[in-house]
Amino acid sequence: MNERRPYDLICFDVDGTLVRHPSGMVIWEILNLKYGGSNEINRLRYQMYCEGRLSYERWVQLDVQTWIDRGATRDEVVSSIQEFSLFEGARETVHELKNRGYRLGVISGTIDIVLDTLFPDHPFDTVYTNKIFFDEEGKLEAWRATRFDSHGKPVALREIAQKNDIPLSRTAYVGDGENDIPLLGVAGYFVAFRPRSRELAEGADLVIADEDLPKLLEIFE
Ligand SMILES: [Mg+2]
Repeated sequence: MNERRPYDLICFDVDGTLVRHPSGMVIWEILNLKYGGSNEINRLRYQMYCEGRLSYERWVQLDVQTWIDRGATRDEVVSSIQEFSLFEGARETVHELKNRGYRLGVISGTIDIVLDTLFPDHPFDTVYTNKIFFDEEGKLEAWRATRFDSHGKPVALREIAQKNDIPLSRTAYVGDGENDIPLLGVAGYFVAFRPRSRELAEGADLVIADEDLPKLLEIFE
C-alpha cells in the first residue's frame, strides 16, 4: 500500500455516475416504461419503498416479474441499455485510477447487464449490483436483488474494505443520488457527481457539478 496517498479503495455508483440516459432516467424506469409500466407506478413504488411499505426485494420482484410476464428478452433489454452511454471520460478515468494502483469497486442498484453491456472491459475488482438471468433462448426468467443498495451500500463498503484490509478512512465513494446518502460519513471521502440530492451535495467532501469525471484524476493522484 502506498502510504503517501490518503485513499486505497474507490467505489462507484453506476446510474447517474458512470452511465447516463438522455432522459435522466435509470434502467429500472426505462424497462418499466417499456414493459407496460408508467412514471406513476415508478414514483409510487419508490415512495412506498421510502416509507418502508415496500421492501427492496419485493420492489425488484414487482418490476422484474412484470417484464417477465411481458416476455422480455435479452436482445430487447440490451437494446434499451444501448440508449444509455458512459459519461465522457468514464472509461479512461476508471482505467487510469486502476493503473495508479487503487482498488476499485461498484456498489449500485443498477442491473448487472447494464455494466456488462456498456463497460464490458471495466477494471473493477468487486461489483455489487442487482442481477437478472435469461434462459437458453434469451428469455428473461429470474432475478436476484442486491442486498447492497441504499442502506445496504455502507454494508458493502465495509465488507469490501475489510476483505482488502483497508480502513474505512482510506476509502472513497463517488455517487449522485438519494440512495448514496447512507454512505455520507462512512466513506473516508465522498464525491457527489452531478448530485440529484441537496443532502448529498451538502454532505459531500467534493461536488463535481459538471460532467467532468476526469476531475477525479486530480483528486486521486
Ligand atoms: Mg445513481
